[in-house]
Amino acid sequence: MRFKPKPLKDDIAFECKFCLDCCRGRFIYLTLYDIKRIAKHHDPQDFVVLTTENEQIRFILAYREWDLGCIFHDPESGKCKIHDYNPLICQIYPFMVSHKPLGIEGEESFEYKGQKLWLYYDESCPGIGKGKTITREEIAELGLKFKEEFDKSNLEGFVDLINGESNAEI
Ligand code: SF4
Ligand code: SF4
Repeated sequence: MRFKPKPLKDDIAFECKFCLDCCRGRFIYLTLYDIKRIAKHHDPQDFVVLTTENEQIRFILAYREWDLGCIFHDPESGKCKIHDYNPLICQIYPFMVSHKPLGIEGEESFEYKGQKLWLYYDESCPGIGKGKTITREEIAELGLKFKEEFDKSNLEGFVDLINGESNAEI
């Protein structure tokens, strides 16, 4: 599924319909914060894939060969098997928090905690416009949390985590 970003100019109703389109065919980036939480229930060797991007090590969720779906997507129920401790990036979706504009018509910056952000939603998500209202502040908060954790996720931290040497609070 390709993200079709539309500027998010106001709070918006959203309720996931579990079509799980967003759980297939794209990289699900993991931070060490995510890996630690999921590792309480699953062996990291079963769900973490290392890849490189611009000469940086990145961690992504393992995916199935047959449909490129995330391994935690249940094809029978359509639900996420790790919903209670899913990665930050999954919690943000179908929204996107950017620190620079994408160049899309109608976009405008949103000030949050002293930072200038650009918020978007995926117009192809069928849950948009349904259910409870989510505020731009809630979305921005998740976006800042993801960036903070993503920026400090490196190979050294991963090795420490695997060796059980990380004392960081979750
Ligand atoms: S967030 Fe949207 S695209 Fe993803 S599973 Fe829910 S309804 Fe489908
Ligand atoms: S962890 Fe859950 S929400 Fe995230 S991609 Fe996998 S199945 Fe989808």
